[in-house]
Parts: sequence; C-alpha cells; structure tokens
Amino acid sequence: MSASDSPVSSNFIRHIIAADLAANKNNGKVATRFPPEPNGYLHIGHAKSICLNFTLAAENNGTCNLRFDDTNPEKESVEYMEAIERDVQWLGFKWAGKYHASDYFEQLYAYAVQLIKQGDAYVDSSTPEQMRADRGTLTEPGKESPDRSRSIEENLDLFTRMRAGEFADGQYVLRAKIDMASPNINMRDPTIYRIRRVHHQRTGDAWCLYPMYDYTHCISDALEGITHSICTLEFEDHRPLYDWVLDKLQTPCHPQQIEFARLQLEYTIVSKRKLLQLVTEKHVHGWDDPRMPTISGLRRAGFTPEAIRDFCERIGVTKNDSWIEMGVLENCIREDLNERAPRAMAVLRPLKVVISNWEDGKTETYQIANHPQKPEMGSREVSFSKTLLIEQDDFMENPPKDFKRLVPGGEVRLRGSYVIKCEEAIKDAAGNVIELRCSYDPATLGKNPEGRKVKGVIHWVSAQHAIPAELRLYDRLFSHPNPDTLDNFLDGINPNSLEILSDCRVEVSLATATPDTRYQFERTGYFCLDYADSTPEKLVFNRTVTLRDSWAK
Ligand code: ATP
Ligand code: MG
Repeated sequence: MSASDSPVSSNFIRHIIAADLAANKNNGKVATRFPPEPNGYLHIGHAKSICLNFTLAAENNGTCNLRFDDTNPEKESVEYMEAIERDVQWLGFKWAGKYHASDYFEQLYAYAVQLIKQGDAYVDSSTPEQMRADRGTLTEPGKESPDRSRSIEENLDLFTRMRAGEFADGQYVLRAKIDMASPNINMRDPTIYRIRRVHHQRTGDAWCLYPMYDYTHCISDALEGITHSICTLEFEDHRPLYDWVLDKLQTPCHPQQIEFARLQLEYTIVSKRKLLQLVTEKHVHGWDDPRMPTISGLRRAGFTPEAIRDFCERIGVTKNDSWIEMGVLENCIREDLNERAPRAMAVLRPLKVVISNWEDGKTETYQIANHPQKPEMGSREVSFSKTLLIEQDDFMENPPKDFKRLVPGGEVRLRGSYVIKCEEAIKDAAGNVIELRCSYDPATLGKNPEGRKVKGVIHWVSAQHAIPAELRLYDRLFSHPNPDTLDNFLDGINPNSLEILSDCRVEVSLATATPDTRYQFERTGYFCLDYADSTPEKLVFNRTVTLRDSWAK
C-alpha cells in the first residue's frame, strides 16, 4: 500500500469508537493505553501503536495510559523503561497515568485465588514437556492433566505455598480450567502463573511467582478502566481468553479488544528481539544508531516527531497485513524538512579553488537567506575570500555533454555569490586535479548580467572561514527489502550503510548548531548535529536523508 491510497482522516477503529460514543457505551468515555514490554527500545512499529492509542483518546476527550507490561523480569530493565518514556514524550504525547503490570501483582494474585475458589483454575505439576505433548494440535484435541481434578482446597494450599517459595522453579504452574478440546489452542487450560526466582526491576525479590501475559493484560486493562484495548493482529486468537478471564472474574469493567495489522516496513526489521541482536552483536553502534528503526535512532538521525506522526497517519490502520515502502517514511521527513530546515553550505569532499583576480587578504561578507521561500526564517552571514573550497565532483576535466557545473574554461555560479570561470586545473604527479585557478566577475554578485546566462549553481565555503567537520552518510541498514523473510535476517544487511567523511568543511554559521536543528546542506541532503559524538572541537553531523529518493525503482 502506498501512502496516497490510504484515507488520512478515518480508520475502522475510529468508526468503532464513534459508534460506541453514539450509543453512549462506557458512559461516553474513551480510555486507551499503550502497553510496551520494557525489554528493548521502541521502534517505528510501536510509533504506529502510540500514535493510534494517544490520538484516538485525544480526539474523543479521552485518556491514554502508558503501561509497562513488566511480567518477564529476565529480559526487562530500568534502562528500557526510561528510554520508552523518553520516546513517547519526544513523539509529543502525554499519558494520563503511568502504570506497571507489577503495580497489580497483589491484585492479580487475589484474582487467581478467586479463580481457584470458583473452580476455574488448578495447580498442575505436569512438566513443560508433558504440557506441550498434552496440548494437542490444530486437528487433535488436547489431553487433560491428571491434576485437573485436584480439589479446590488442595489447589488453594499449593498456590499459597507456591507464593511462599516452597517449590522449585517449574515444579508447579497455575492453569486456567477452560477446555482441553477447544478448537482454539489458547483456550486449552493456559498457564496463568509460573514459579520463577528472578529479581524484578521494580518488585525486587518480593515474588517468586509471576503472572503470564494473557492473564495479566486483560486484568490490567480492566483495573485501569480501559474502554478500547487496541492491539496487533497476533492477539486475535487470544481474545476469547481475554474475555474469558474478565467474565469469570466479573471485573468492574470489561474492555473491548480490537486488533489491527502491525506495521511492516521494507528494508528494515521491527522486532525488538532482532534489534537487540543487531546491538549485542555490534552490527550497529547501539539502540540509537541512526540506521536503527528505533525511535531513538530516528531521533538521532534527525527525524522530527512531526514527520513520524505524519507517517503513522498516512499509512492508516487496517486489519490486513501489508508492507509499507521505506520511501514513504523517508518522504515524510523530506517534506517536513523541506519546509522547515534552514539551508547551509557544507563541502563533503573539498577541492581548493584560488580566485586569481581577488586581492590577497580581502574578505567580503554577504547575507544569505536561510530558506529560499521563507524570508521570515532570516539570513546568515557568509564570507568570501581568495581561497575557496568546492566539491571535487563539481569539477570535471572531460565532462559529459549535460554537465552543468565547472569545466576548464567554463563558468559556474557560486550559490549566493559571484560567477567564477575556471582558468586552469593544477594536478599532482599522479595526474589528480588538486587545485583550480579561477577568476571571478565582479558584475555578477547575486545576479546574471544582461545577456549572460550561467546555468550551474554550486555550493562552496571560504577555506579560511570554514570549519572542519565529520559527516556521516547513512544509507538503509538492509539492502534486502524483506530481511525477515531470509533464513537469517543478518544476510540482508547493507554492507555500505555508513560512510564516514572526516575531512569536510562547513560554513561558519554551523559553529553554533544544536542537535535540535536540522539543516538542509545545499545539494547534499538533510543533516543534524550528532548529539552523542559532536564536540565544539570536532563537529559531527548525521545525514538524516538524501534530498531525493535514490532507491526509487
Ligand atoms: P516486538 O515484536 O518488537 O517485540 P511486541 O509486540 O512484543 O513487539 P510490545 O512491547 O509488547 O512489543 O508492544 C507494545 C505495543 O506496541 C503492543 O500493543 C503491540 O501490539 C504494539 N506493536 C508492536 N510492534 C508493532 C508494529 N510493528 N506495528 C504496530 N504496533 C506494534
Ligand atoms: Mg509483546
């Protein structure tokens, strides 16, 4: 699906909510939540869910909670929780409340006791292997465990002792007593509690018993008064269990689970497990590496929250799995920055140009507009002097016919300044052009004189005024459009996803650049200061995106 054929203003979940409001369901209230597991950094797929949940709430005067689904302490950490909070806020959203599934451990336990008392849960001593073997298949029913008929008293006693730490990890589990013959495997007496002696980042060693996701999630939703529990399609088959638990417990409210298709984006991966592997195996330089599809990586690369929100709106929300082209995301940031980014000049691969008819030691300064269409964005000062630097590839000795830049004996305009003419190319012993001698025409400052048209315009900096900088040119992390479909997704990695140019020169106004300002470096792309590695002594800029889509078919 491309961005253009998706309705921007509506989606099926908006329709459901509008109908619920019209029927005064939930007393006209809308409450959603974004429920990440703090086992990694958020990625662009999560952004889709964040935008959806927060926007639906905001549009309807409702609330959206941030809830950490922290029931798997082995894989979770405070670092991840902090990163998630930062990312949600950076995207521009404010949660009504911040909760943790672990806030509800006591309540969840009490509900489990209630299930046991009702005869709806039992303690099982089957080994994991036995449970797997007894679960059955899509075509065959499961087999009931001998423990299924254990008495309520015995279940209560065992469950109390499970909590007290009397048993080894894995010795017992608590299972919901539903139906081993259900066509839906999720309903075949799913485990709802397991014994696991792991330190929890919030509850410490208070518990050796942890609730399972499916059991925890629906109760957490109900305790928070969520009205619409929006999740991705893989939970569709879990919905009967979601509803079963809440029906059995008669919780104060019963949220409606609604599933939508997860974002799948070409040329990248959106799975925390695989992103973690990229980080731990050092295929990238961390979770916030600008090539990562994480929100922190996109931020470091120079993406704006507005562009990401725009992307999430454009891709729409449906129930059908589809792949979104990477170009859709890249175009969102291009369009945003084309409007907003001040222009600046940076020379990536410098070639020396000496202006022979310019006085030694003389400097002229001009004001150049920061944005060609937006005078309100002001201007900055640019200096011109005898020795300039231009891009090596803006000069060609033997150019093809349509080459509009500098050639021997030819003219070109320096952006915002004079027209220069190439008088001589100086070469080193190996025959490489190392310097150009040019003349400038004083009558051409900022305008073409009558009857003379100079087509080419190139960017430049004054050698004595320019500041050295490192520019990091990022490309897509994967050269395979669907790395997830490979036996090993790592085989799809683009070996040329990062090119570091360490001898660039940028115009002097960039000395005061901050990571929050994205620039359009004339003719080379959108860039922003790297917040981690840039220092006043050595500026480092990341390329957010090229000016045009170089991957377009
Ligand atoms: P991953 O597969 O990357 O680990 P997850 O679903 O396990 O993702 P959670 O932390 O559980 O990650 O996700 C929090 C919320 O974000 C869930 O509601 C989930 O459905 C949603 N989400 C995760 N990935 C995507 C995606 N690619 N597109 C849309 N929503 C997503
Ligand atoms: Mg998950």
